[in-house]
Amino acid sequence: MHAVSRLNRTFSAPGLHERSTVTKFSDLGIPQPLLRALHHAGYETPSPIQAKAIPAISRGHDLLGIAQTGTGKTAAFALPVLGRLLADRSRLVPGRVRTLVLAPTRELAAQIAQSFHTYGQFMHPSLRVGVIVGGVQHRPQADMIARGLEVLVATPGRLLDHLAARRDALAATEMIILDEADHMLDLGFIEPIRRIVALAPKARQTVLFSATMPEEIAALAAALLRNPLRVSVAPVGTTVAQVDQRVVFVEGNSKRDVLTELLRDEAVTRAIVFTRTKRGADRVTHHLNESGIGAQAIHGNKSQNQRVRALDGFRRGHVRILVATDIAARGIDVDGVTHVVNFELPDAPESYVHRIGRTARAGASGQAISLCGNEERPLLRQIEKLTRQTLPVADRRGSPPAPRFKSWSADGAAKAIATSKPRPEDAKRRKAHSPIQALGTSKKPLVLPAHGMPRSAHGTQIKKVL
Ligand code: AMP
Repeated sequence: MHAVSRLNRTFSAPGLHERSTVTKFSDLGIPQPLLRALHHAGYETPSPIQAKAIPAISRGHDLLGIAQTGTGKTAAFALPVLGRLLADRSRLVPGRVRTLVLAPTRELAAQIAQSFHTYGQFMHPSLRVGVIVGGVQHRPQADMIARGLEVLVATPGRLLDHLAARRDALAATEMIILDEADHMLDLGFIEPIRRIVALAPKARQTVLFSATMPEEIAALAAALLRNPLRVSVAPVGTTVAQVDQRVVFVEGNSKRDVLTELLRDEAVTRAIVFTRTKRGADRVTHHLNESGIGAQAIHGNKSQNQRVRALDGFRRGHVRILVATDIAARGIDVDGVTHVVNFELPDAPESYVHRIGRTARAGASGQAISLCGNEERPLLRQIEKLTRQTLPVADRRGSPPAPRFKSWSADGAAKAIATSKPRPEDAKRRKAHSPIQALGTSKKPLVLPAHGMPRSAHGTQIKKVL
């Protein structure tokens, strides 16, 4: 219930270099039960993407939305969908799906369904929402379709399996939403999407959201949407403005020690560490646990249950550090992530934007720290080019490693003890080189203009520290 029980949340999140002129949800023509749920969830004002997209979708337009996660895009499509369902609940038929939402990952699909539950919690009879994703049993999902659904949130691969047996499940579908289309492209889902959408009536409403607009997505939109309205809240590749970003140059073999040191900082209350590979995620998690820092890994080789458990522990604050690969982490919506650490830079620069968007959600601020080895410099340059900024850099090459810690549990409780005592001169040197200390002055959030160099909050140009 991630969106419930939050009081008075004003959406001031930029990424969004614009303010909406609409200040109230009630100005957007949202029906009463939904307004009540928004109030209950503590939403005070519509975010810019909501202010733009909700009226357009409610009027029945196809829509092409350029927005990244953290902008409130889920409610931007969920509220008009629910408004439409509320207008006529009698059209639910067994074996048919009224609204289809396609999402790239199981986690995102589950979160979207959760948002529908949250916004639709005061609907009577209660909303019929279902999730169809891989990695879980087939049968209950087939039964769910057989009973009929007002909203089905699905990942394309598993849905196609079901549609092979039930080709008419989408025969009466009124709306299709494609969320994080660029990510679905990365995962090779474009062909499955085309095949799925072909099973729905032509006279439907289609909405496509994407954080970026590569050619293939533009082509998909041209094929599936009719005269779409375009709304966008951030230029492609713009990073979330309240994320304070920095880079630490490190030698590859000292990354783990620098990471451990970073995560020991008390300011890190909830962090996601990104690795490039699943094995890398496991190795980093093992190292952190060995060092007495409780961490859990989440990636595609974990079972659905393990993933749900890890996410749940993280969300509830039982686990402070989540170690994730890009695919597993896209769309993870956990509030209060204070830090994102890129243990390795992503191969695709767009992933950087998505990764750091895990912090600074819903108007909060956060820090993103990227550990960059020599061989990763070209990746860093690509990220800087895409996001049109120069990131502040601290140099930790050649500095002594942090002391090694080993986990130790005599009484079952995790404790940490130093296996080698740090030398005082090392401690001094480390402090001078500490990634957080070395950039003390740039703790101010970066304010990213739409074009050109970023400026610190007080207006001075940020330069590389090297
Ligand atoms: P999304 O971009 O849809 O993943 O939403 C990001 C986060 O913002 C989620 O935690 C939502 O619950 C929250 N959110 C969405 N719209 C609003 C709003 N108008 N006011 C406050 N929080 C919101």
